[in-house]
Amino acid sequence: NADAAMYHAKSAGRNNFQFFDPKMNEAALERLGIEHALRLALGRDEFRLHYQPVIDVRSGRVSSVEALIRWQHPERGLVGPGMFIAVAEETGLIQPIGDWVIWNAARQLAEFRAAGIADVRMAINISAIQMRNSDLSVLASGIMEAYSLRPGDLIFEITESVAMEHPDETIRVLDRLRGMGVKVALDDFGTGYSSLAYLRMFALDKLKLDRSFVVEIGQDVDGQVICDATIGLARNLGLTLVAEGVETEAQLEYLKARGCELVQGYYFSRPLPAGQVVDFIRSRNGG
Ligand code: C2E
Ligand code: MG
Ligand code: MG
Ligand code: MG
Repeated sequence: NADAAMYHAKSAGRNNFQFFDPKMNEAALERLGIEHALRLALGRDEFRLHYQPVIDVRSGRVSSVEALIRWQHPERGLVGPGMFIAVAEETGLIQPIGDWVIWNAARQLAEFRAAGIADVRMAINISAIQMRNSDLSVLASGIMEAYSLRPGDLIFEITESVAMEHPDETIRVLDRLRGMGVKVALDDFGTGYSSLAYLRMFALDKLKLDRSFVVEIGQDVDGQVICDATIGLARNLGLTLVAEGVETEAQLEYLKARGCELVQGYYFSRPLPAGQVVDFIRSRNGG
């Protein structure tokens, strides 16, 4: 009880005010605040998508762009997904937010097509709850019809940890998506303890090697070994490897020399608003 806790805290000295765990209360309050604010943000249309180019290392062309959500907060400015996606997932708000993301990314892709960008795909991050609660394939076909997109235009990214949490369900969902031609990438690969047996059963097109391993290139032999092994694994499973978080020329050259086909990272471009990513695509792909 509070009095007893106060007594303890006082008698044990100032540092023990942590006994109340003010951080925990703060976190709970903060969470409530964020949940409320996220609901308002949906209504006020404060979410934005930025797009990060994924580059084909051999041709130098943009192969796809990944849609990454941001929150244009009226006071705090542009807030990254690390600040709110977890709360959105815990509160179920990821469902309407995720739907917003899919519809808007698809609409943007249709605008790219209308602007003459014919060959760039759109990658969209899908959360665990979206995998479980909604019929993703129904949503995907509705969207493709609404925007006259072809199934191969869309890449759905699911993280390795989410895929492995409910592997049998993942197999079913991915089979349905693959059946309609939607591409699937396994995101943050290397961080989620994949069973190789399951990896073979998932209908995947791409593996995305997590940034934490790319950072180790030229720094740490163990990390580098994981890069090498993942490149080999992808090749042997017939999957395309995307290296995430490429920031230096040395990382790029290393990956290229070992046959990694696609890279994404600040070395080429940060995630950009739609207008700027169109300029970037034109500068690399022509047109
Ligand atoms: P992710 O899907 O693995 O996306 C890659 C993240 O790495 C992005 O962070 C991107 O900005 C960042 N990144 C790319 N290249 C570099 C680099 O060279 N250096 C560094 N330091 N970082 C780089 P961001 O945009 O903050 O997104 C973080 C995560 O939030 C994403 O990781 C994804 O898991 C999640 N997320 C983003 N948008 C959505 C969304 O619309 N829906 C869902 N469910 N999750 C999303
Ligand atoms: Mg991703
Ligand atoms: Mg990733
Ligand atoms: Mg990541």
